[in-house]
Amino acid sequence: MIGAGVAGACVLRAVARTSHALGFADLRLSLFERAPGPAASASAVPVAVVHPMTSRDHNLASQFFLEGVTTLTRWLDDLQGCQQGWADMSGVDHREPHAEQTERQPGGWVLPIGLAQACLRDAHAHMADRLQLHFNCAILPVDLSVLLQTYDAVVICAATDRLLPDAGLALQPLSGQVSWVSVAKGQDAIHSQIPRVVSGEGFLTPLISGRVQFGATFHRSDSPPLVSLADHQRNIAQLRRLAPEVDQRLAPKPERCGGWAGTRYATRDRLPHIGQPVCPTVYKGKTDRWQLAPSVSQLHQLPRHDGIYVLLGLGARGLSTAALGAEAIAAEVLGIPPILAPRICRAVDPGRFVLREHARVNACLKRVD
Ligand SMILES: Cc1cc2nc3c(=O)[nH]c(=O)nc-3n(C[C@H](O)[C@H](O)[C@H](O)COP(=O)(O)OP(=O)(O)OC[C@H]3O[C@@H](n4cnc5c(N)ncnc54)[C@H](O)[C@@H]3O)c2cc1C
Repeated sequence: MIGAGVAGACVLRAVARTSHALGFADLRLSLFERAPGPAASASAVPVAVVHPMTSRDHNLASQFFLEGVTTLTRWLDDLQGCQQGWADMSGVDHREPHAEQTERQPGGWVLPIGLAQACLRDAHAHMADRLQLHFNCAILPVDLSVLLQTYDAVVICAATDRLLPDAGLALQPLSGQVSWVSVAKGQDAIHSQIPRVVSGEGFLTPLISGRVQFGATFHRSDSPPLVSLADHQRNIAQLRRLAPEVDQRLAPKPERCGGWAGTRYATRDRLPHIGQPVCPTVYKGKTDRWQLAPSVSQLHQLPRHDGIYVLLGLGARGLSTAALGAEAIAAEVLGIPPILAPRICRAVDPGRFVLREHARVNACLKRVD
């Protein structure tokens, strides 16, 4: 496993539990993380809201996110996240812009560091000394072939596509900021005003450890994100539109807000990559075309990178999909039947952009002929 954000920690737990249930007593797991501890990058966001944001026609993405929230809720029950105070899944009040009514949806909030640590503890409980954690250990692209000689499978959960830059994963960096106001003890009325997460255009959390968090901003940028007054201002303006009554009570001022900034990596269709990426033999290299026969038109026809699996591109809603993605990867790695419906498997297939580009180029060539 490479990366100990929520994705890597969830995969570690899913593989440890599933292999234990299957009686794979010889299986060994190693995790490599360049930071000194878990949840050090995007997963360091202090509070993450979890919500399915279902579409009216309940399209494929909507079905996937709802299944993701259901899976996470089950994990939080097992890991006692709500009892231990690092999660609350009592629902989300969803407000569409300009709509009068609020719709109650499943979801809530999670402290990502709490989830990552609980997953590592649970994996250790199942694996004991068959699990090795290597922090302060960055993996380079050239190390992948060495890892493949040592391990049967390598799961990349490093958020970006830097370890597989030519695999057509097309991940975009989106930096951003959350803001919060600290609420002094005794101002308990805020509890009744925000009993649960509010989502819509942006989000707002209830009072958690003395803070109400709201946001977030989005910038297409890979440069190290810094907390800025301008982004506090954007978040406050969004809060005013989402929950004017809360904005009035909190009266947040940019210079008095706290904040955290980070970068999430997302795909063009905002669905993650779950599964095996394409094999290096099809990489474009210096040409402008994937090395695929014109007859290749289906995902199952793409040659795959043997032994490599990815859970990447979790984007702005990683907490809603990490647990489900992890269970899907564990099933693939351990060779048990897929847990995702075939239509959803295809929607999150790491080869989908390669196939779409191949089909587009083929269609252009046919027109020229
Ligand atoms: C401002 C902001 C607000 C957000 N709010 C929410 C929210 O409310 N709800 C929600 O669900 N999501 C939210 N997100 C998104 C969420 O944080 C991400 O989707 C999620 O944390 C991604 O998890 P990850 O494990 O894929 O990536 P990361 O947390 O980035 O983890 C990747 C890990 O891989 C390690 N790594 C990278 N390269 C290497 C290497 N070569 N060798 C070894 N280790 C490596 C990194 O050090 C890192 O620890 C927000 C993100 C931001 C930036």
